Amino acid sequence: MPTTVNAYIATAADRPLEPTTIERRDLGPNDVEIAIAYAGICHSDIHTARNEWNGTTFPVVPGHEIAGTVSAVGEGVTRYAVGDRVGVGCFVDSCRECEPCRLGEEQYCERGNTGTYNAVGRDGQRTHGGYSTSIVVDENYVCRIPEGIALDVAAPLLCAGITLYSPLRHWEAGPGKKVAIVGLGGLGHVGVKIAHALGAEVTVLSQSLKKMEDGLRLGADHYYATSDPQTFRELRGRFDLILNTVSANLDIGKYLGMLALDGTLVELGLPEHPIEVPAGALIGKRRSFSGSMIGGIAQTQEMLDFCAEHGIGAEIEVISADKINEAYDRVVASDVRYRFVIDTATL
Ligand code: NAP
Ligand code: ZN
Ligand code: ZN
Repeated sequence: MPTTVNAYIATAADRPLEPTTIERRDLGPNDVEIAIAYAGICHSDIHTARNEWNGTTFPVVPGHEIAGTVSAVGEGVTRYAVGDRVGVGCFVDSCRECEPCRLGEEQYCERGNTGTYNAVGRDGQRTHGGYSTSIVVDENYVCRIPEGIALDVAAPLLCAGITLYSPLRHWEAGPGKKVAIVGLGGLGHVGVKIAHALGAEVTVLSQSLKKMEDGLRLGADHYYATSDPQTFRELRGRFDLILNTVSANLDIGKYLGMLALDGTLVELGLPEHPIEVPAGALIGKRRSFSGSMIGGIAQTQEMLDFCAEHGIGAEIEVISADKINEAYDRVVASDVRYRFVIDTATL
């Protein structure tokens, strides 16, 4: 019998989220049932709940930064036991056969990964995310949260953490590398911590200097305001890697101009309109313009272990469920330091 659980649901793009109940599937042989303790609010949740990407099928329960403890396991489960501390990120399944899946890059599954919410699972049922008290997930898409990280500050690592960790590793951020992070929000602030722990020289490029003290405390070596035209002149040709977490359309040519020879600018945000890239900004210094989406399951586990080892968690503001709609408005207004996390006991 499917289990009925409490949740917060979006029913239409222009309506606030509201309390409801949803059904979770029966535990299959390879499934883990997770009692969710905390769910982070990612900006992607807001894009989806407000249908800003035009791909939302309502109703939808958002949430793909999930942390909790295992409450039951299917008979074939080998990796987890009741009581284990675990997390679930942006997807809960993939085809497991294609080249990216076999390489552990399940996020790029050729048949499409199954989103934690707003997707149809391989069982034909719609998926619903972490703004709920419980979720059932195949054990292969679950990660272990090491003892060293509290569940509330761990939750945002399941999306924000891996989204920054993966490109930092792919483009080999480390000692001797100059890395810039554009936007000190949910993604950006975790990126600063991880890039610093990897040994890179870290610069924050924020709209203003309002959060500078925080940025430096989190591990940035330098902090600049992009509202100041002097920033772009001073930093010309400076960086090996720029990670852009902003979802608004920026004047990307100006940011490419801050890359050194062979430097790479990686898009992590998803702007509504196409980005104009001036070819001259690429050609002059053999620069690259790229993108990156979350990370695979094995790398997500590696990131969690890395964060535990380096004492890294998100900077969070824990809220009760009745504050979700208010929190959405505050994220959109960049008024969050630096991730809202829902205490699911309040659902
Ligand atoms: P967030 O907490 O809202 O942070 C975004 C930051 O961007 C803000 O804190 C702000 O930083 C800056 N910003 C906002 N509006 C801006 C504007 N108009 N011009 C310039 N800068 C602006 O959001 P998030 O949760 O980190 O997510 C960021 C984006 O990444 C979202 O679009 C989300 O959907 C996407 N995302 C992508 C992936 C992926 O796999 N690639 C994964 C998760 C999320 P400052 O105040 O410091 O300027
Ligand atoms: Zn996310
Ligand atoms: Zn696949």
